Amino acid sequence: MSRNAVNIHKPFWMLLCAVALFCCTTWLPCVGAEQTQWKAGVASVVITPEEPMWMAGYAARKGPSEGKIHDLWAKALAMEDEQGTRFVLVTVELIGIPRPTRDWMEKQVEARFKLPPERLLLNASHTHCGPVVRETRYSIYGNTLYGLSPEQIEQSNRYVDDLQKKLLLLIGQALEDLAPARLGYAHARAGFAMNRRARTEGNYSISPNPDGPVDHEVPVFCIDSPEGKLRAVVFGYACHCTTMSFNQFCGDYAGFAQEYIEQAHPGATALFVAGCGGDQNPYPRRELEYCRQHGRALANGVETALSLRARPVRGPIKAVLETVTLDFAEPPGRRQLEEQAKSKDKYDRRHAEVLLEELERTGEIRKTYPYLVQVVRFGDDLTLVAMAGEVVVDYALRLKAEIADSAVWVAGYSNDVFGYVPSLRILQEGGYEGGGAMRYTDLPGPFAPSVEERIMSKLHEMVDKTRAPASK
Ligand SMILES: [Zn+2]
Repeated sequence: MSRNAVNIHKPFWMLLCAVALFCCTTWLPCVGAEQTQWKAGVASVVITPEEPMWMAGYAARKGPSEGKIHDLWAKALAMEDEQGTRFVLVTVELIGIPRPTRDWMEKQVEARFKLPPERLLLNASHTHCGPVVRETRYSIYGNTLYGLSPEQIEQSNRYVDDLQKKLLLLIGQALEDLAPARLGYAHARAGFAMNRRARTEGNYSISPNPDGPVDHEVPVFCIDSPEGKLRAVVFGYACHCTTMSFNQFCGDYAGFAQEYIEQAHPGATALFVAGCGGDQNPYPRRELEYCRQHGRALANGVETALSLRARPVRGPIKAVLETVTLDFAEPPGRRQLEEQAKSKDKYDRRHAEVLLEELERTGEIRKTYPYLVQVVRFGDDLTLVAMAGEVVVDYALRLKAEIADSAVWVAGYSNDVFGYVPSLRILQEGGYEGGGAMRYTDLPGPFAPSVEERIMSKLHEMVDKTRAPASK
């Protein structure tokens, strides 16, 4: 082509470039074309209790729920790779997943849908404005954390029974909805989570600590139809869902974020996955307006990630679910517990009574905890690590630094939410997440110093198992 020809066609090329740029920034679907032949299916169900119920998260509440700000949801996303390997993610807007619920779901899902346990992930948003869901565990002692009456315990157990049935139907619906899809991963940031471990007079209290570690990443998994229409968005954030502490059912910032994303993308389902926010709080808090603002900030993070060209996620899906045995520190002796049972603090007293009853019933206090960890890897593109309990941010930061060969997404509050999972640093510092919060459970006390290394070495072993042979 001669120089003259270039000049003649210059306006045409400029127009073409402008059109291409316009398309790239506004009309392109979230996922590029070249990738695995995926299928995906989504389903949602309202899980707001139909009657007033005692609420979870704050033992100091004086009465049951009084209405709702908006509904609480359970949502399921099913995925199937080219080989027909399926994986189902279920998110619930509740304080946690009780272990008996996880165990029941595993069995049912395997029997009905032939989905093995390692390919089922349950994650709770940890909203503190949902119903109590784990009094079953305490009711055997007749000594409940929230001081519930037998009728209230019965009501909570009934709710959990119904919930389990709803979740099972939900998973069935998501699997029935499986249709060709394109999967992509992108990430952005949101800044309202702040470290909540402030050092005061030689101890740690729950108060904003602007200098403490945080994880402001907003990981986003987008699911498009083959035509490029957004069908579902999974997004995460590492922060307690505790803007509010009132007596109305509410999904807190994560509930608002999902609402805003679904409003902006009619027909798409937004699913929130709680990250390692054990030691992170949303600040400022305790005003509904702040709750909406945090929801908006998180939704903005998701929109930013969606506006980037998401990296295609390829298969195959490889999943591993394992148990790490975590040791507790030496439990208190009978005499010490008998002393503690006289305490004026009702939670210290209750904790001592619960442990003394365990000693009476079984002859000893449990020394270990069977800790559930799950790794789901999507080809070489994304490693999703799902950890049980209220995991502190140190784990997410370490895993992201140590797994270098794919994008890394770390979820906490998965499969069994039983109490805090401190890092060695936090265990040694002490305070609420270090061991203080154990008095609100039926577990004996802080974990042993081996906690972090046990979990981390198990996770690395598991990630290795999910790597394709060529990438090892
Ligand atoms: Zn918590």
